[in-house]
Amino acid sequence: MPWHYVENGQRKGPVEDAEMRQLAAVGAVSPETLVWRQGMANWQVYAEVAAQPFPSTNPHQAKTAEAFNRAYCSQCGRSFALEDMLRFEGAYVCAACKPAFFQRLKEGSRLSTAREYAGFKIRLGAKLIDGVIIWVVQMAFALLIGVLWLRDVSSGQTSIAIVAQILIMVSQVLVGAIYTCWFLVKFGATPGKMACRLKVITPEAESVSLGRALGRHFAEMLSGMILLIGYIMAAFDEEKRALHDRICNTRVVRA
Ligand SMILES: [Zn+2]
Repeated sequence: MPWHYVENGQRKGPVEDAEMRQLAAVGAVSPETLVWRQGMANWQVYAEVAAQPFPSTNPHQAKTAEAFNRAYCSQCGRSFALEDMLRFEGAYVCAACKPAFFQRLKEGSRLSTAREYAGFKIRLGAKLIDGVIIWVVQMAFALLIGVLWLRDVSSGQTSIAIVAQILIMVSQVLVGAIYTCWFLVKFGATPGKMACRLKVITPEAESVSLGRALGRHFAEMLSGMILLIGYIMAAFDEEKRALHDRICNTRVVRA
């Protein structure tokens, strides 16, 4: 049954199944393109229609289902049944292209879409490095404040001691936030992450904005609560997202 679709606000079609898939393959029909064919109550986006399972009771429909279980190889562009293909980072690779594909991967040329999410252990390593650096800077501030203010405690001025304590606490929060956000926005990674060759990105592979970096920094405190469950979540997530990555919609990838 022929399809109709909308392009630049204009109704196009009718086109046959095969042509429709071809249009989808070259991007003329995107997953968001509105499509319709006889028997459908409303226009729907192509992704929804293409994702629908087709009942395989009658032979004609079974054939259609088969057509929808096909995809295009990201390397040679030919169409294959899904079960004959390998899925890598969201892209399909056919059996014939597989050896060459992996050879290139090994040689270090990666697909533009390829993205390697950083696992729990390497992130923990990066965290430890950052932790030590932040701790050293925080101690330096605390010492400075202590030397300048706290010695007055011996003269019995407890109010100054309290002010100094508050100053130290504030400086510690600021040191952590400024360190994390400045490096994330400027370089996409804190020194600990740089050392481990990691990067924090948005789902669109862009570097994070100041607002998102700041939000992420404070959301990370949640991850640190309740036995680090927020961090451990990364180990069980398909995209290795920790709780703060989920909250702020960020990903940590290998740079
Ligand atoms: Zn191929």
